[in-house]
Amino acid sequence: MAHDDDNLRFFRARHAAFAQILDTRNDDEALLAHLLDEAFEGFEHALQARLDAGAPVACDRGCATCCTLRVTATAPEVLHVARHLMTSDPAVCRRVVQRIAEADERTRFESEAQRVTLQSPCPFVDDDGACAIYPARPLACRGHASLDRHACSLAACGQVDDIPYSVAHRMVRSLVQNALQAALRDAGYAWGAYELNHALMLALSQPETEAAWRAGEDVFADARIDDVSPAEMASTFDWLKGA
Ligand code: SF4
Repeated sequence: MAHDDDNLRFFRARHAAFAQILDTRNDDEALLAHLLDEAFEGFEHALQARLDAGAPVACDRGCATCCTLRVTATAPEVLHVARHLMTSDPAVCRRVVQRIAEADERTRFESEAQRVTLQSPCPFVDDDGACAIYPARPLACRGHASLDRHACSLAACGQVDDIPYSVAHRMVRSLVQNALQAALRDAGYAWGAYELNHALMLALSQPETEAAWRAGEDVFADARIDDVSPAEMASTFDWLKGA
């Protein structure tokens, strides 16, 4: 994004849009769909307007080199992926759920850095190296875009620590996700960021998880990632909102 004022305006517009959905659709069965449509469309729209034409993204279908990293997601994103799975072909769903359980077993207690060493693939990487839940993938995946595939391969082998990445993807993802979290917090919903695999196991093992989250419970607390403390996050949201 070109300027801090643009970032603030964009954050506030997204926050207002999420707040309106949470206010007017709170009893609507399609609440999650409305929230995620707003998040994903807002992300794609803003990204197109801000992409640097001189630095093309190197990511392509079939490359899953970075799909070994820890994925974090908000509760609506986790519930959306769970719904996506539960409405897919039952045989496919059973196979993927088994893979999520195995991945959760392998990585649940590993830090982000340990996962780089472990190189355990995301359970959603299909046989062609594509993402099996591409339309429902979380903002974290949408916001991770490399500018150099060779650097990704070197990073996966531990030969370099970082890769050149798209600043626009990372910034827009961060603003959209933070606006969603801030609106969830204001409306009394659990607003944390959660480790995807473990949160999904919680969502898939208890049919009432979505209803409990909609009633205000922090249903994914066991998968919560607090790299930044909730108090610090809340204070940042209030500052961004102009409180
Ligand atoms: S959800 Fe999809 S894009 Fe994200 S890490 Fe897994 S396979 Fe990759």
